[in-house]
Amino acid sequence: MHIPERMCIACRHMKPKSELIKIVKNGEVAEIDIKNKKFGRGAYLCKNQECIENAKKRQSLSKHFKMKVDAEIYDEIRKVSEDE
Ligand SMILES: [Zn+2]
Repeated sequence: MHIPERMCIACRHMKPKSELIKIVKNGEVAEIDIKNKKFGRGAYLCKNQECIENAKKRQSLSKHFKMKVDAEIYDEIRKVSEDE
């Protein structure tokens, strides 16, 4: 059976989608795709604090989406990762 894998934008490891949080670009804003239902260009981050922190430091989402991304999204990502 093939499990689809995606790359974390912080550590660049390939992981099953279930271990990652997807963030999508929706027009000019980045949103967390909690239910995996949003369309659009996606970025993936591991559900661990290290990757979230590194992505925040390096502004990985801004680079990935080639636009300005508010730092608050990283706090939201952290919240989502802790809820699961
Ligand atoms: Zn990672």
